[in-house]
Amino acid sequence: MTTTHGFTESDERQELRRQVARLAGKFGRDWFTERARAGEKTTDLWLEIGKNGYLGINIPEQYGGGGGGIGDIAAVCEELAAQGCPLLLMVVSPAICGTIISRYGTEEQKQRWLPGICDGTGTMAFAITEPDAGTNTHNITTTARRDGDGWVLNGRKIYISGVDEADNVLVVARTEDARTGKLKPCLFVVPTDADGFEARSIPMEIVSPELQFQVFIDDVRLPADALVGDEDGGLVQLFAGLNPERIMAASFSTGLARFALDKATAYAKERVVFKDAIGAHQAVAHPLAQSHIEIELARLMTQKAAALYDAGDDLGAGEAANMAKYAAAEAACDAADRAVQTHGGNGITQEYGMAGLLVATRAGRIAPVSREMILNFVSMHSLGLPKSY
Ligand SMILES: Cc1cc2nc3c(=O)[nH]c(=O)nc-3n(C[C@H](O)[C@H](O)[C@H](O)COP(=O)(O)OP(=O)(O)OC[C@H]3O[C@@H](n4cnc5c(N)ncnc54)[C@H](O)[C@@H]3O)c2cc1C
Repeated sequence: MTTTHGFTESDERQELRRQVARLAGKFGRDWFTERARAGEKTTDLWLEIGKNGYLGINIPEQYGGGGGGIGDIAAVCEELAAQGCPLLLMVVSPAICGTIISRYGTEEQKQRWLPGICDGTGTMAFAITEPDAGTNTHNITTTARRDGDGWVLNGRKIYISGVDEADNVLVVARTEDARTGKLKPCLFVVPTDADGFEARSIPMEIVSPELQFQVFIDDVRLPADALVGDEDGGLVQLFAGLNPERIMAASFSTGLARFALDKATAYAKERVVFKDAIGAHQAVAHPLAQSHIEIELARLMTQKAAALYDAGDDLGAGEAANMAKYAAAEAACDAADRAVQTHGGNGITQEYGMAGLLVATRAGRIAPVSREMILNFVSMHSLGLPKSY
């Protein structure tokens, strides 16, 4: 595992960033948006990062991974986005599903699913959000009923990323406690080709080859070993995936923010309409400088969250991951907006591709956890204010 020291990442981590940036740079933003607009996939890049060991860098080596930490996979995620190739499924497959299975799966489950997550041939999506429960995940109603040795699942999920590219979905369902009758959350690996499993893509305004789906689960029969972890430990097991998710979402945002800022800065240096390049005007330069500061602050908090998580401090990582995710989403939205403004009319042409970043970065304020829920968390846990929901 590469570790951080002081306020600078280790040499190994910085080298990892350079290597990923080089690889992603060979694909680039134009390649990415062309795939998206043609309804094609980014499988070539996905498999390439898998082949080079970056996709499963956080997964233990005995299951095909790199034996690194969340800080490593977050660096990979950020560098891909910074080259204009943001891969949302990085957040989901190796970071959420990979972490949960590594920590709570049986030996047999780890051997079955982790190697495919690492090399990219067995991608796993993650489904918790439901149409009626929304942010209030305590209200999910997807239910797992015991059926002989196995399980039968029923329910609905919404906004599930990449189901069309996944072999399996890690589904959060609820089982009934035999003693109390209360429903408790549990995690099940559901094959996307199972009978009774259907996914319909949701038309979104995001320019990305990765799509979101509504998922219908009707009497899907699963074997006993589809349950990941302990039936009674669902909530703890679920939370194990949430800090990595937030750290990855923050990295996704800071990567996109860096991409937007790089483009804006380059344009501001070249475009001349009065005497000098437009970047000579402080009205253009200052917002970009402001973005640079905000992005660096968000990156620092993201790296802190990852370092705490990798050191085993789940509680400290929770607070830092929430704050990082908040700061990164805000920095990315502002950077995208400023990048569009810097480009003038070109900012909203397809040729320059800046306007698409507005929606892509905006999603970071909503998912995987909204800015309001982070502010609720910080109000309550960091400031000790009363719970508001
Ligand atoms: C691009 C994208 C990809 C996604 N991928 C996945 C995925 O792969 N898997 C998955 O399971 N989910 C995924 N999601 C779902 C995402 O996690 C949810 O959209 C998010 O949690 C918000 O839920 P909601 O959309 O139902 O909003 P709602 O819960 O309806 O919330 C609407 C608004 O009300 C606010 N609000 C609600 N309650 C409170 C409160 N108590 N205090 C203050 N404000 C509140 C929210 O912050 C939000 O602004 C994805 C979403 C998007 C946009």
